[in-house]
Amino acid sequence: MTGRRGLDFAEPLIFERGSPGRRGTSTLASPLGTWDASREAPSEFLRRGPVGLPEVGEPEAFRHFVRLSRWNFAIDLGMYPLGSCTMKYNPKVNEAAARMPGFAELHPYAPESWTQGALRLLYELAHGLAELAGLHAVTLQPAAGAQGELTGLMIIRAAHIARGGARTRILIPDTAHGTNPASSALCGFEVVPLPTGGRGFVEASVVERAMDERVAAFMATNPNTLGLFESEIGRIAEIVHAKGGFVYCDGANMNALLGKVRPGDMGVDVMQYNLHKTFTTPHGGGGPGAGPVAVTKALEPFLPKPVVAKTGDVYRFEFDRPKSIGRMRSFCGNFGVLVRAFTYLREMGIDGLTRVAEMAVLNANYLRVNLRDDFQLAFDGPCMHEAVFSDKKQKASGATTMDIAKRLIDFGFHPPTIYFPLVVHGALMIEPTETETKETLDEFIAAMREIARECRESPDVVKGAPHHTALGRLDEVQAARRPVLRWKRECEEKPRPR
Ligand SMILES: *Cc1c(COP(=O)(O)O)cnc(C)c1O
Repeated sequence: MTGRRGLDFAEPLIFERGSPGRRGTSTLASPLGTWDASREAPSEFLRRGPVGLPEVGEPEAFRHFVRLSRWNFAIDLGMYPLGSCTMKYNPKVNEAAARMPGFAELHPYAPESWTQGALRLLYELAHGLAELAGLHAVTLQPAAGAQGELTGLMIIRAAHIARGGARTRILIPDTAHGTNPASSALCGFEVVPLPTGGRGFVEASVVERAMDERVAAFMATNPNTLGLFESEIGRIAEIVHAKGGFVYCDGANMNALLGKVRPGDMGVDVMQYNLHKTFTTPHGGGGPGAGPVAVTKALEPFLPKPVVAKTGDVYRFEFDRPKSIGRMRSFCGNFGVLVRAFTYLREMGIDGLTRVAEMAVLNANYLRVNLRDDFQLAFDGPCMHEAVFSDKKQKASGATTMDIAKRLIDFGFHPPTIYFPLVVHGALMIEPTETETKETLDEFIAAMREIARECRESPDVVKGAPHHTALGRLDEVQAARRPVLRWKRECEEKPRPR
C-alpha cells in the first residue's frame, strides 16, 4: 500500500527515494563543449566528493512534491482565519493580469517610451492608494509591511532633521505587531511602549503624558490588533502634532476601513498598506509582498526615489528629488504584486472596496457573537474585522489555546493566530475576512463549539490533537533548534481517535 489512508499518501524524504544513477533530466550535449572546472578554478573552491543530490526520475520527483503539497493547507482549500494576516481569497483574474506577457516579461531597464502602460499602472495604483488613505502621495517600493514601516520612519526622521531637530523616540501601544518596535529600533529610535486602556485602545491622556519634544512619532495600528478602533486617535493626533510629532498608522488592518474611513482624516501623516493582505495578493510562506507608504503633502519630498510622474500624457520616473531618503528597493518594488493589487482595485471600484470593509466587519462580528458563550472574549462589545478570544473558559480542563488551535486542524480549518496580541493571555485571534460565506462561518462555529464541548467532556482528545494529519504534534522549539531530517515510520502508527 502506498496510501497512508486511501488517497492520502505516505511520503518519505526525497533522499530515501530513488536509486543510484537515476536522472530526472536529459540534457543535450552543448555545442560549446563541456567546461572542466578542475582545470581553471582554484583548487580550494573545488568540491571534494559527490554533491549528495537525490537520484530520482522526473515522475518520482514530481510526485514527491505533489504528495507533500497534499499534506499542506491553502486558501484555495478552505478558511484560513489567521488574525491580523487577512488571508482572503486571491481572485484568479489578478493572476491572469500579472501573467500578461507585456507585464510578466518586461525588462526593468526597458526605456520609458516602451513601458508607458506599466508606468501608468504604477501611477494610477499610487494615486488610488493615496485617495483611499486620504493622503497626498504614495511610494510603491517597499516589499512588505515591515519595510513600509521602516520607510515611513525614515521619512519621519528625515523630516525632523530637515526641520533642524533630530528626535529620538517613538511611542507605540502595547498591542502593536512586533514589526513596529523592530522597525523603530532598526531606524535608530528608542521605543516607548504605551499601555492599552480598559476599553482596549490607547487613551489620549496616556499619550499626553508621554508626549514631549523628544518624540518623533506616535505609531499605532488602527483598528488595533484587538480588532478595536482606536477611538481617541483624533484627539491623540492633535496632542502629537501640537508638540511637533508625526502620527504613523500601521495600515495592515485597512481591510476594516476601506472606503469607510480615511486615515488622513484622523490626523495620520504616514501609513503603510499591506497589499498582500488588503489587496488580495497571495501571501504566506515568506512573500512576496508589497508595503506601499502614503504620506501628507509636507512629507512628499522625502519619499524614496524614483517616483512615477506624469507630464501631459507621458509617464516617467522622476529621479531629481534632493530631499528623498533614497532607494528602498531595486527597480519598482515587487511589480507582479502591484499588478495584482491594481487589478483588484479596478475590479472592485470604490463601492466594491467599501463592501469589503462592511462584510469583513460583519463576518467578524457574526463569529464573535456566536462564539462568545463558549470562548472568553478579550474585550466585549462590537469588533472591527477580527475578534480576539482567549482560553480562559477552558482553563479548568487543562486544554490551552495551542491545543484548541491544533484540534481545529482535525476539523479541516487552519488555526487562527494564537498568543498574539501579547496583552491577551492565551489569545485566539480570529479574522474570517469578507470572502467566506455564511455556510463556512457556520461550519467554523460548529467546529469551535464542538472543541469547547470536548474540552469539558474529553479534554485529552483536544490535548493530543491533531489526530488526522500525516504527522502529529511537533515539538516546535526542538524542530527549529535540532531538526531531525529522517522519516520515522512510527509517525504513521500513532493511534487515531475519532
Ligand atoms: C502583517 C502585519 C505587519 C507586518 O507586515 P509584513 O508584510 O508581514 O512585513 C505589521 N503590522 C501588522 C498589524 C500586521 O498584521
